[in-house]
Amino acid sequence: MHRDTQIVHAGFRKNTEPGAFLAGPQFSSTYTTPGDPSDHALTYGRFHNPTWRAWEDALGTLEGGHTVAFASGMAAVAAVLGVSVRPGDAVVLPADSYYAVRHLASTWLEGLGVEIRLAPTRDSAQASVLDGAKLVWLETPSNPLLDVCDIATLVRAARERNVLVVVDNTTATAYLQQPLELGATYVVASDTKALTGHSDLILGHVATTDEARAEALRAWRTHHGAIPGPMEVWLAHRSLPTLPLRVSRQCASAEQLAVFLASRSDVKAVHYPGLPDHPGHEIARGQMRAFGTVVGFDLDTRARAEAFLGALTLVREATSFGGVHSIAERRARWGGDAVGEGFIRFSVGCEAVEDILSDVANALRAS
Ligand code: PLP
Repeated sequence: MHRDTQIVHAGFRKNTEPGAFLAGPQFSSTYTTPGDPSDHALTYGRFHNPTWRAWEDALGTLEGGHTVAFASGMAAVAAVLGVSVRPGDAVVLPADSYYAVRHLASTWLEGLGVEIRLAPTRDSAQASVLDGAKLVWLETPSNPLLDVCDIATLVRAARERNVLVVVDNTTATAYLQQPLELGATYVVASDTKALTGHSDLILGHVATTDEARAEALRAWRTHHGAIPGPMEVWLAHRSLPTLPLRVSRQCASAEQLAVFLASRSDVKAVHYPGLPDHPGHEIARGQMRAFGTVVGFDLDTRARAEAFLGALTLVREATSFGGVHSIAERRARWGGDAVGEGFIRFSVGCEAVEDILSDVANALRAS
């Protein structure tokens, strides 16, 4: 079956099963469980929930592995690190990863006596600092600079040295990129973004082909309490069948926006892996189905970037990315990323592309 068809039906009841296509969210903290708890499939809401199970089955179809859902992307990040790393280990992170991942490593992990090594995503530079490491963390395309590394090459280098490979797949989503197929030990993702796409929830997940590793993650989730709410999970699952439609359109529009911005003499630099002159273009072409929903560009100064954002009438100024509504923000306002004061992260939504382009063109003229 075509992958898009699989995604439309993933985790939904089969056409031979009577009843609703997707069961509603199950709100229950506890279950009637007389006698021995092991006689019952459902006991307590922190341990399991049928709404999670359907969602995890669906994500397993997308990722090609066992999947464990978490309350947020960061809860998923913390779980992978928590089950994998011990004091004295070394962890290799992208110097340009999502800043909260680096923050977590430099506070929590360094505090436990873990060595943190940083190397850029570009040119797969992390390969040169793997010796003696326990785990390497990849993020491709990286957020917010959208650099790309070669997952298969890094997996090979890591395997030779017995290093675990984690890929943060948030910007691509499992629709565009499947790191488990390329040999990654774990995929981690914020499902807050394009995977669910409606800017109405916070969720995350981890996937792995190794059942024992998945079990360790489930135990972490149970004992740390990083569980997703059934309502969020149901909303997420409700959004999944439109993933191919949403993301295909968003990627096509993002490509058009990037080409338009690259043609402008008043835009300093455009970051989008789909542009032929992007340093990771050929790698992205080989490992991604399309080039993503986010475009970065540099308007040079804070004043111009703020004037640009203020002049947009359709696109909202907001953080996050991947949703059906186009949003943009000046990334340096948060700190933590090596971006210029005028760098804009633009998340392309599902609006008609001519309306997005015209809003951007007008705001560039006005700024
Ligand atoms: N990883 C990446 C690449 C992200 O961009 C984000 C959030 O922006 C996260 C992880 C964390 O996800 P969440 O906000 O769902 O906790």
